[in-house]
Amino acid sequence: MTSKAPADRDSAATPAALLRASPLPPLEARVLLTHVLGWRQTQLITRADEALDSASVQCYLALQARRVAGEPVAQLVGIREFFGLELEVTPHVLIPRPETELLVETALIAMENLARPRVLDLGTGTGAIAVAIASMRPDAQVSALDRSAEALAVAARNAARLLDRKRPGGAVTFAQSDWYDSLDASLRFDVIVSNPPYIASGDPHLSQGDLRYEPRGALTDEADGLGAIRAIVAGAPRRLAANGVLWMEHGYDQAEAVRALLVAQGFTQVQSERDLAGIERISGGRLAD
Ligand code: GLN
Repeated sequence: MTSKAPADRDSAATPAALLRASPLPPLEARVLLTHVLGWRQTQLITRADEALDSASVQCYLALQARRVAGEPVAQLVGIREFFGLELEVTPHVLIPRPETELLVETALIAMENLARPRVLDLGTGTGAIAVAIASMRPDAQVSALDRSAEALAVAARNAARLLDRKRPGGAVTFAQSDWYDSLDASLRFDVIVSNPPYIASGDPHLSQGDLRYEPRGALTDEADGLGAIRAIVAGAPRRLAANGVLWMEHGYDQAEAVRALLVAQGFTQVQSERDLAGIERISGGRLAD
């Protein structure tokens, strides 16, 4: 038997109808609609033919129009999942990308045999890397820096919401700093990680897709794309403890250049790791004493 909608139901205003009529990729439409309704994804199926109130419908259509015009889904819903964590996202921070999970995994392996590892995340943005490491290693002492006060506020909220208040490593500490500039000179770290701005200033990707809506300072060094990486590599020896490691994310074609910078700075065991797309996406090395 086919189900029949009651006469008072506006068939254009059911989840099924909204999704069918949406110009967006289905996954994006579902993310926006569940956000508006406060539903789980499965409820879009179990309640697919339910009439929605017009306020919800208007709200969804407004978000859909903004997405069609180009705004990133993560900014429209204010959240992006990273390493199993629901991170708050605003227009002041880079949207966490799945490939950056490789940086977290690699950093975690590097600190496997260390108790209470001291970790520094440079240019933390949402706090994605720092918070993911802190959540996986409750004993790690994690510091995170960013030059943007707005980003630090987002990162601090993410840490406060997602981390155990009583974690043995203590709260993640956040400070405003242009790379290492404001860091106490006496501090040493076992692991330094960063996903710095690495897109060259003239790269056409900066004026395409989500990147148009993300903070430019989180994407490009306004130079050849290696400026931030040079600064991070150059400053690392003074900040790393004996046998400390540095790992950075970089562009798809920068691995060789980044490895050369690490070698020139005296790093050993210099290597790159490939992301799920097979691209050398992160490079790092160890600073022997
Ligand atoms: N991964 C981003 C992109 O290429 C760039 C992020 C960055 O510069 N750190 O879209």
